[in-house]
This record gives sequence, structure tokens and C-alpha cells, in this order.
Amino acid sequence: MITKCDHPGCTKAGICRAPKTRDLREYWMFCREHAAEYNKNWNYYANMTPDEIDAEWERETFGIADKDKENVNKNEAEYIQFLNDFLTGRNSFDKMPAKKTVPSQIISALRVFDLPVTASWREIGVKYRALAKKYHPDTSVNADKSATEFTRINSAYETLKKYFKK
Ligand SMILES: [Zn+2]
Repeated sequence: MITKCDHPGCTKAGICRAPKTRDLREYWMFCREHAAEYNKNWNYYANMTPDEIDAEWERETFGIADKDKENVNKNEAEYIQFLNDFLTGRNSFDKMPAKKTVPSQIISALRVFDLPVTASWREIGVKYRALAKKYHPDTSVNADKSATEFTRINSAYETLKKYFKK
């Protein structure tokens, strides 16, 4: 299927894929000329949230922990590799993951609340409040068992909180 180049006003065929986001999950389809232009002008901050830009700025200004540095470098290296492959046509785009997958620790955390992977943040909140109330060590009959459950619920909740960026 040939679609038109995504560049506004361009009527050429969109034959080159250009990453829309830094995680490479979405793409523009450009003609060769506009793909080259896009890559040249690719803005490092273009698809970041204000929080991510702040964090990035902080890292650049104050330096970052070595562990974070490794991750950032790895991401950047992968992106640069991707762009190189993109420009030289070496990359097999079909191998790129198209769908967002739910990490296993998130699935496990949702299981604690007896919720499906499609659960919303709101549903998690409702379940969390109900269970936290039930197992709260101060109000429960079986204090030992409740303390264990309470810890488990809270740890799952924290994991999900991070995942949902709350
Ligand atoms: Zn074009």
C-alpha cells in the first residue's frame, strides 16, 4: 500500500519511515527528500513531555548518576544506530515492535489487585483503597497476616503508580 508523504502539501509517495517518537513506536511516512530533511532537523526534545525535558536539563546541568548515564547512553546509541540504518536502508523495519507490551512486573502487580492488564488507573485506585482498608494492620484481627498483605498491596501499588506515571 502506497500512501502520500506525510509532509504537509507534499504529493509524492511516502516510502521512507521516520520515527515519530523517541521510543520508535510510531512513524511518519515521508518521501525520500522529506525523510532526509526530517532526520537533519530532528529535534532532540520534540517528543518529550515537559517533565522529561526538565529531567534532561537537570541531568545536563548537574550531571547524572552513573547508572542513569549508562541507560541514557544506551538509548542514544540505539537511536543513532537506528538513524544510520534508516538513512542507509539497512534496517529491517518489520522487525520493530509495533505494539506497546505490558511489562511482566506490571501484570504481576495487577494480579495482586485481581485486575486485568486493561485496568485503568482509576480501577486500580478503587481496588487499592478497598484492600488497604481491609488489611490495614491497625484495624485487622489477624495482624501478622494483614501486615504481610498490606506490604504486598502497597508495593504493587507503588509499581503501578510509577508505570502510570502518577
Ligand atoms: Zn514529501
